[in-house]
Amino acid sequence: MLFSFTVGRRGLLCAVFVVLSAACGMQETGDPAAALRLYVLDCGTMTGDPVRFGLQPDEVATTDMSTPCFLVSHPRGLLLWDTGAVADQEWTPTGGPVAHHLVLPDASERDLTLRKPLLGQLAELGHTPADITYLALSHYHWDHVANANAFADATWLVREVERDTMFAAVPPVTVPQNYARLEDSNTIIIANDEHDVFGDGTVVIKSAPGHTPGHLVLYLRLQRTGDVLLSGDVYHFPESRTLRRVPTFDVDPQRTLATREAIEAFLAATGAQLWIQHDAVGNAMLRKSPQYYD
Ligand SMILES: [Zn+2]
Repeated sequence: MLFSFTVGRRGLLCAVFVVLSAACGMQETGDPAAALRLYVLDCGTMTGDPVRFGLQPDEVATTDMSTPCFLVSHPRGLLLWDTGAVADQEWTPTGGPVAHHLVLPDASERDLTLRKPLLGQLAELGHTPADITYLALSHYHWDHVANANAFADATWLVREVERDTMFAAVPPVTVPQNYARLEDSNTIIIANDEHDVFGDGTVVIKSAPGHTPGHLVLYLRLQRTGDVLLSGDVYHFPESRTLRRVPTFDVDPQRTLATREAIEAFLAATGAQLWIQHDAVGNAMLRKSPQYYD
């Protein structure tokens, strides 16, 4: 009983089998939920066009849209959630803000401000891409997949319909070459509406279709911070939520509305905070890596 109180049930198993199993290392001691950390990585800010999201410019607090990445550190592994809008090799960090102009495959253009490369921020935490256990993308749009190829050796968590769309003969409007290597990645197809990443209920990927066919959101149960839901692109601006506006380019706007209804009910039931990933005002208030939420 002493062990079960001090190191938890899994720790007790490790204590019993420690002689037999070198796999029961230090990482399995303690309460996994207590060791859960969420790092907010700065993957840039883009200048958005609210009209594409069903909003007029005077209806939004800012047209800036943050494009964050997130690292989830759990005793059983690391999960990278989204990989930014511009691949690290496409720009040169200066230590300050870097203006970056992007021409997308459909000839539309975007302006971004970049500050820190993604791999540099992982290195600051002592990680290389090889350390990443799981990669999950909220969805396949270009502003979430830019560095995906760097994590092709991780296990990719994805819904089948999303993966099929990404590798279809006619690819969706995004930058497919930025995630091309994922086609050969170890892949876990998420078949259910929820996928418990580490098996203890603290990090759960939830199905949230509409924006893209296999769009996902990420639910985290952080001990001190409380529950947090990372939005993907279920909403782009806080005003998308308050004014109930849907982007002009969602693959299934009716499903977006149904997803939003389910998410609002989930938020009400759990008391989770919703972090709208592209909300530049909200993002500016979050502490950034190497600081973390736990
Ligand atoms: Zn986006």
